[in-house]
Amino acid sequence: MHRRMASDPAERASAVLEIDVAGVVANWRFLAQRVAPAGCAAVVKADGYGLGAPVVAGALAAAGCRRFFVATLDEGLILRRALPGLCEVAVLNGPVPGSAGEFAEARLVPVLNDPGQIAEWRRLAARRGRLPAMLHLDTGMARLGLTAREFERLTGEFGRCGAICWRALLSHLACADQPDHPLNRDQRARFVLSRPRLGGLAASLAASSGIFLGPDYHFDFVRPGAALYGVNPQPGRPNPMRQIVRLSARILQIREVDAAQPVGYGATHVMAAAGRLATVAAGYADGWLRSLSHRGSGRVGGLRVPLLGRVSMDLAVFDVSAVDPALARPGAFIELLGDDYGVDAAAADGGTIGYEILTALGRRYHRVYRGASGSPTAC
Ligand SMILES: *Cc1c(COP(=O)(O)O)cnc(C)c1O
Repeated sequence: MHRRMASDPAERASAVLEIDVAGVVANWRFLAQRVAPAGCAAVVKADGYGLGAPVVAGALAAAGCRRFFVATLDEGLILRRALPGLCEVAVLNGPVPGSAGEFAEARLVPVLNDPGQIAEWRRLAARRGRLPAMLHLDTGMARLGLTAREFERLTGEFGRCGAICWRALLSHLACADQPDHPLNRDQRARFVLSRPRLGGLAASLAASSGIFLGPDYHFDFVRPGAALYGVNPQPGRPNPMRQIVRLSARILQIREVDAAQPVGYGATHVMAAAGRLATVAAGYADGWLRSLSHRGSGRVGGLRVPLLGRVSMDLAVFDVSAVDPALARPGAFIELLGDDYGVDAAAADGGTIGYEILTALGRRYHRVYRGASGSPTAC
């Protein structure tokens, strides 16, 4: 007798990543309502924080989002093709030297971060006719953006619509997830002082956490990324955002082990008592971080199952001794991320932040997009 082949990718998948696109839209609407009348852009850099920028951005565009941020030119080119022309695609890193032409060709809006980028964009604009850009001012994190001194020196060139047509003035907060940090007020004060130099130009300071510092931080529009994807913008407080990802890895093998059995590379875990182990098909190559070794956990039938020993490249081992054997059997799934154990909880166990859990999510997962009905062209 021939068995039916599991040709359906979902049936043969080693691990399944479900992405709640409707949830991303719900999170965006929640933030947009919170900051109104300020606007709400969407940051979809790093392929939409690992979840798929074209799908996520398409759904947000259909929901009314008109301004999107990515980090690099290549990300911008992909997104520009995925979104209707009336949506703005801004590129946070701006052009690396020599690439300004490609920005203009693709109608991408660069965020200009230093005098060299401004000079190159202005030269191009002088040749091609007016070009749009945003200006990034560093107000205290020493990462990207004009320093206060550069801003002063260039201030005469910031006429609203010369060769460069300025679309917005941006700055970025270093400590927005710590509401009491004095740098928040300092950065805001510097931002407020600089604004008048660019007339009535749209201003934007807050990302996800900055939104929760209050209306004083919203200015003309906000730029959330992480919160759209379920990361808690207020660490230590209840998370107002919906969880977006559910990750389930297939159990490949179940084994009964005796006390004193070592588990995994390095024999760093040794069973204290007899038990039952499940080996699942996900490892650090899939973004199930090696730093989750000995600390991570999964869920089976609502029960927490601890991860034992080291995470391997393609495999991880869980203690399922307490789980009904009918649930923990080869072919069944262990949930690695979900409503009960979200990206922030996994991040805490792995010694990192939810952002890194999301952006590390691997390319081998079978991806299922839920509620992605919004067609990008419906914008
Ligand atoms: C990444 C980034 C954002 C979004 O930050 P989140 O904390 O993910 O909301 C906004 N602005 C800039 C300049 C960024 O680099």
